[in-house]
Amino acid sequence: MSERPSLVVFDLDYTLWPFWVDTHVDPPFRKNRDGSIQDRNGQPVRLYPEVQAVLEQLHQEGIPMAAASRTGEIRGATQLLDLFGLNRFLRYTEIYPGSKVTHFQRLCQQTQIPLSQMLFFDDEARNIHDVSNLGVTCIRVPNGMNLSLLKSGLEAFARS
Ligand SMILES: [Mg+2]
Repeated sequence: MSERPSLVVFDLDYTLWPFWVDTHVDPPFRKNRDGSIQDRNGQPVRLYPEVQAVLEQLHQEGIPMAAASRTGEIRGATQLLDLFGLNRFLRYTEIYPGSKVTHFQRLCQQTQIPLSQMLFFDDEARNIHDVSNLGVTCIRVPNGMNLSLLKSGLEAFARS
């Protein structure tokens, strides 16, 4: 039995970025010459500060990653993943409304990775509840994804 997860899955809104992409910002987005990203109204759009470092660490450890989001703003969310350069880390993306049980069933089908070998980060208790029942190790993200949460998530997975 491996002590490392075979797949790490991230929610998007209030996990990787500090807003609801369907409510608080206005797509389409654009990238400025200095690399900053803004929405249609010129409002700056950012990730939580340690998100790039979190994904980089998992990438260096050779652990595949995925995104699972229930947003209805599929196009905007997909565009942000591209503009932020997160597509190079996230091998699978499941973005559509509905229960996250569906998102994980599809991830399981696509990857052939058992749900018990997945680690999931999400800010919402109801998603943690639903996905935990599938046998996935779930970590609630209170204030955005960061390196310390990644460490405790990997430790919780190893204990599970
Ligand atoms: Mg969320």
